[in-house]
Amino acid sequence: MFAGRDVRTDFPVLHQKVGAHPLVYLDNAATSHKPQVVIDAVSRFYERDNSNVHRGLHALSMRATDGYEAARARVARFINAASPAEIIFTRGTTESVNLVAQSWAAANLRRGDVILLTEMEHHSNMVPWQVAAERAGATLRYVPVVGDNAEHGLDLDALDRLLTPEVKLFAFTHISNTLGVITPAAELCRRARAVGAVTVVDAAQSIGHEPLDVQSLGCDFLAFSGHKMAGPTGIGVLYGRRALLDAMPPWQTGGGMISVVEFGSSRWKPSPERFEAGTPNVADAIGLHAAMDYLDGLGRPEISLHDHALAETAYAALAELPGIRLLGPAGRRAGLVSFALQDAHAHDVVTFADQDGVALRGGHHCNQPLMRKLGLPSSVRASFYVYNTPQEIDVLVRSLRRIIQFFRA
Ligand code: PLP
Repeated sequence: MFAGRDVRTDFPVLHQKVGAHPLVYLDNAATSHKPQVVIDAVSRFYERDNSNVHRGLHALSMRATDGYEAARARVARFINAASPAEIIFTRGTTESVNLVAQSWAAANLRRGDVILLTEMEHHSNMVPWQVAAERAGATLRYVPVVGDNAEHGLDLDALDRLLTPEVKLFAFTHISNTLGVITPAAELCRRARAVGAVTVVDAAQSIGHEPLDVQSLGCDFLAFSGHKMAGPTGIGVLYGRRALLDAMPPWQTGGGMISVVEFGSSRWKPSPERFEAGTPNVADAIGLHAAMDYLDGLGRPEISLHDHALAETAYAALAELPGIRLLGPAGRRAGLVSFALQDAHAHDVVTFADQDGVALRGGHHCNQPLMRKLGLPSSVRASFYVYNTPQEIDVLVRSLRRIIQFFRA
């Protein structure tokens, strides 16, 4: 994989011990680590180019502006957007979804309209729509998650009933952060378009793991975070189709987003500036640029194969453990596996695994309604990225065996 390259040497944080044990980091769905090239890009900006962007005429400001706008153009290429004007920098997925909810939805939703979501949405792609629906007098519908543990997926047959002309917006995740389900995003966008609904794709869990092309997906909006794709925290992206962005009002106002200001009123710049009031996160946009170069250097199809293979190996190995309930599909799944142990609470599992140097995540994973539907208070999640190895899955399984023995004793 990755043409024989030792990817682990690119990530300085991996080379440490937790207590007496080498770190086994399996919490990548929460946040991924950063390769040295990303750390260097951010440091270099502060060491050499640090300055504010867009309105400066001196050398440093021009370099900072060039770096920031080059990052925007790089994002456009990374997701095959038609133009950099369709790329808005935000703090992350959560802020990107809130931008659409507070701008597009506030301007376009009316009483009686419907927002369609799925039962597997992260709170970040659920709560903003609850608030938008309440403000507009709109209602929410959910595409159910069906099937038993081994076959969890979206009930696509229910879409015919749910996707009626009252649906003005369909927001759904590309990859479930708990179940590992990969949704048929292009088909969902096509079916939404057929009833005139605008689509919002939450790509938080897919952007760093799968090749992604917004034009072939056919989505109207797409949201993601830099920190889950080897990039810095505090930077993310909202992609929006130009025609929609041009018609949307700003959601935050202030410097940088205006063309003319009078004492009584103001006029706005076009996208993307209209949606980026105030000083942007220049350094981390530049770090994100380095992360995209890094991921493309490894090869995104290769990353996808690597992560899927680890998840399959982990799923099969974990299935052998006594008293385990695995969540999500047994077959094609993204690079993560969630599970619950009969005898131990998820938080205890994570605390005990940490004693073996294994970093997991336990809880509701910002999927409270889904967990309730599954009849679980919480689950444990192991999630993989480019630097994880099959040997680390062996360490995970050994640690879980120890935990099961302890709680059964
Ligand atoms: N959507 C999904 C599917 C996620 O997994 C996450 C984070 O875990 C988010 C949205 C929110 O991302 P952020 O906290 O970076 O805004």
